[in-house]
Amino acid sequence: MNKGRVFIISGPSGSGKDTLMKKVFEKAPDILFSISSITRPMRVGEVEGEKYNFISRERFEEMIANDELLEHNVFVGNYYGTPKAPVLNAVNDGKNMLIEVDVNGAYQILEKIPDAVSIFIMPPSLEILKARLTGRGTDEQSVIDKRLFEALREISCAKDYDYIVVNDDLETAANEFVSIMSVDKFKTDRNLELINKILNK
Ligand code: ADP
Ligand code: 5GP
Repeated sequence: MNKGRVFIISGPSGSGKDTLMKKVFEKAPDILFSISSITRPMRVGEVEGEKYNFISRERFEEMIANDELLEHNVFVGNYYGTPKAPVLNAVNDGKNMLIEVDVNGAYQILEKIPDAVSIFIMPPSLEILKARLTGRGTDEQSVIDKRLFEALREISCAKDYDYIVVNDDLETAANEFVSIMSVDKFKTDRNLELINKILNK
C-alpha cells in the first residue's frame, strides 16, 4: 500500500487557517486532521476534542517526557503539540493527514517526515491581519499585540515552505489549497505501486 502524505499548514494567527480549513474539509472530506494537545485556555465557541485537546501543563510535560509528541512548541506562553501516534498510524494506513502547526513545529515535522508537503497561509496584508485578529474578538489587546509580533517572524519563514496560499477571497484560497493536495496524488513517490503493478512485479 502507498503511504499517506502529511500536509503541514502554517500561517500567522488571524491569517484565516481555521476558516480556510473548514472550507477545505467541505471540499475534501477524506483528509484527516491532527488534533493538537494544548495548554491555552479554551476560547468561547471552542469544543474539546474538535481541533484541540485542552490539557494541563503537567500532562503536557508528561507527554514530552514519554516521547508521545511528533513536535511541540511554546506559543505566547502556552504549550502546543502534535500527538505522534495518530499521524504515524494514518500515514501507514495510506491516509493523508493535515497538521496545523506554527513555523517551529513545521521545521520539527520536516526533520522527521522530510516528504511532508508544507503550505503557508498568507494574509493579504498586515493591516488586514490586524483587522482580522481584532474583528475575531477572541483575544485581548495585549495578546493580539504578541500575536502580531509573532506574525512578522512567521511571515519571514514563509520562504521555507513548499507553497504559499494568500487567504484574500476565502473560496479562491480554499480551491487553491485543494488543488495543491490534489496534484500530490500524481507525484511519482505516490505511484510506486502502480509501476510495479504494470511491470507485474
Ligand atoms: P487563524 O485560524 O489563522 O488564527 P481564523 O480562521 O480564526 O484565523 O480567522 C481570523 C478572523 O478572520 C476570523 O474572524 C475569520 O472570520 C476572518 N477571516 C478568515 N478568512 C477570511 C477571509 N478570507 N476573508 C475575510 N475574513 C476572513
Ligand atoms: P491559536 O492559539 O490561535 O489556536 O494557535 C496559535 C498558534 O499555534 C497558531 O500559529 C497555530 O498554527 C499553532 N498551533 C496549533 N496547533 C499546534 C501544534 O500542535 N503545534 C504547534 N507547534 N503549533 C500549533
